[in-house]
Amino acid sequence: MKVRVLGCSGGVGGAARTTSLLVDQDILVDCGTGAGELSLEALLRIDHVFLTHSHLDHIALLPMLVDTVGNLRERPITVHAPDETLRILRAHIFNWLVWPDFTAIPDRNSPILRMQPLQAGELVRLGERCVQALPALHSVPAVGYCLHCGGDQLAFSGDTAVCDQQIAALNALDRLRYLLIETAFPNEHQDLALAARHLSPNMLHTVLDRLTGRPEVYVTHFKPGYTTGLTQELTNCKSRLPPQVLLNGHCFDL
Ligand SMILES: [Zn+2]
Ligand SMILES: [Zn+2]
Repeated sequence: MKVRVLGCSGGVGGAARTTSLLVDQDILVDCGTGAGELSLEALLRIDHVFLTHSHLDHIALLPMLVDTVGNLRERPITVHAPDETLRILRAHIFNWLVWPDFTAIPDRNSPILRMQPLQAGELVRLGERCVQALPALHSVPAVGYCLHCGGDQLAFSGDTAVCDQQIAALNALDRLRYLLIETAFPNEHQDLALAARHLSPNMLHTVLDRLTGRPEVYVTHFKPGYTTGLTQELTNCKSRLPPQVLLNGHCFDL
């Protein structure tokens, strides 16, 4: 199982791409602007999209992915996400106003797009590969994910504040090798981090100190305007688990 970072920024501008991870050739975790890095041939191979939540930086290219490849494929694309997230997508994106309802095209019995509810704790098996939803705490309903195929595990926090349930879920993983965890605002804007339910470096430190395993920690979701300050604050972080900055193109083998 190979996980490639297509986008890991909290915004756009220059080389910044918003969140999307490619798993092998056929799975996306989130579908932010990073998914636009894929060729048409690569986009055609996407069978499953696991969404952490409904915010635009994580779903921006989903409507265009579905529209671009839908008529060229023989199988539907399945979007997995919490029920509340799917409800928001139906009401506010695939509503015939912002974008067509591809769950009814060409008809409801054989649609281009399928939506499959998934709750925190639930596990989806795709061949030997497992995708498990993790709890998260954000300004809208949200989950993280744990990926593995029987060996090392990679966990992705999604967008989250300090979340006791997510920390407990991470501590319950027995082979956690990689942790991709968000940090959006620098310490001086901790008020914004709290209001938007994101992490600051100080809050990240709190989370890392509560982890019982020893994963390699990669930090994602910097707001582009704060990259320099955030990088410095993470360098100064005296956590037991020293965080590294996640970059586009980074690959993890599981
Ligand atoms: Zn968000
Ligand atoms: Zn986000």
